[in-house]
Amino acid sequence: MRIQDLGYNDHFKKSKTEKNLEGLEVGRVIAEHKERYIVKNEKGEFEAEITGNLRFSANGRNDFPAVGDWVVLITHDSGLALIHSILPRLSVLSRQAVKKFGERQIIACNIDYTLIVQSVNRDFNINRLERYLTLCHTSKIKPIIVVSKTDLTNEQHLNDLLGKINSRIKNVPVIHLSNETQIGVDKLKKLLYKGKTYCLLGSSGVGKSSLINSLLGENRMKTDTISESVDRGKHITTYRELIPLVNGALLIDNPGMREVGIADSSGGLESTFQKIHDLSQDCRFSDCTHTSERDCAVKLAIENGEIDASYFQNYLKLEREKEHYESTVAEKRRKDKDFGKMIKRYKKTRKSNKH
Ligand code: GDP
Ligand code: ZN
Repeated sequence: MRIQDLGYNDHFKKSKTEKNLEGLEVGRVIAEHKERYIVKNEKGEFEAEITGNLRFSANGRNDFPAVGDWVVLITHDSGLALIHSILPRLSVLSRQAVKKFGERQIIACNIDYTLIVQSVNRDFNINRLERYLTLCHTSKIKPIIVVSKTDLTNEQHLNDLLGKINSRIKNVPVIHLSNETQIGVDKLKKLLYKGKTYCLLGSSGVGKSSLINSLLGENRMKTDTISESVDRGKHITTYRELIPLVNGALLIDNPGMREVGIADSSGGLESTFQKIHDLSQDCRFSDCTHTSERDCAVKLAIENGEIDASYFQNYLKLEREKEHYESTVAEKRRKDKDFGKMIKRYKKTRKSNKH
């Protein structure tokens, strides 16, 4: 195996050179468990920890390695390794930290493509599809739409769904397939590229696990959970979260990935709702909210039937969520700053009390 087969490319190579880390090795984080990492490179898999320096210079959780990260490390024949630093990320998929609104938690890094899965039956929902697209745009990951379980419907209904998608979503590949009959799976395989990293998003039950099986080819067995003995006699069970697919593509699938909410999109609205963004250039007011203003190009387009009213409603809803999210983040920053000032004052008074 070569390092490129794990997704290493010129971008990471260049970063490593720029950081003057030429003498050290690189590897990709394929699993993480409580600050212990499984890192893979052309020499094999290593059980790694981070250096004290990396830990102490970290400003928060996001400065720690995550699955998919490219790290610079020193490996040892014993199978242990020490992570020196993280190479700059090309993309970051994160979600709202549980119970800590406004705080983000990284799920995986350096994903190139997302397969957004919706099934033809109950799950199909165009507004939700736009939310997932927004999440992809926010995270700088290219989307591919997968309409699954086509064996459960007839051609007319399927064409109806595809028509709905095409009328609202442009420039995103749409593949329809069945894991049951395998019809359409080959079309998706053509969009799986060597050395590129993919992930799956979609509600529970839409057929994501079945799709992984359809895309595994001969690698099927390798996704089994591996239990292993590590140093200090402890047993940890590690699920390799970077899965090799057909054509040399890679898939990141971890528990966090399954829990990404579609509310986790705080930006990327402009890309998803490109049409509204373009139209708004022609509104009379540059800060037009497209609700009650005069000479609003967006409202005009709705009246003309050029854009769908429901498309615009979904935009407004997501825009409001985004504003709410941003104000929460701003509030949190302010509190953190106040807290920092308080600590400083405390230290100062303690010092002056000592004298
Ligand atoms: P996940 O929760 O998204 O991983 O969904 P699963 O892959 O576990 O699938 C949920 C259920 O849908 C299972 O009972 C699958 O057998 C079924 N299923 C998955 N793909 C298809 C499909 O293409 N056609 C049909 N009819 N059933 C499917
Ligand atoms: Zn307007």
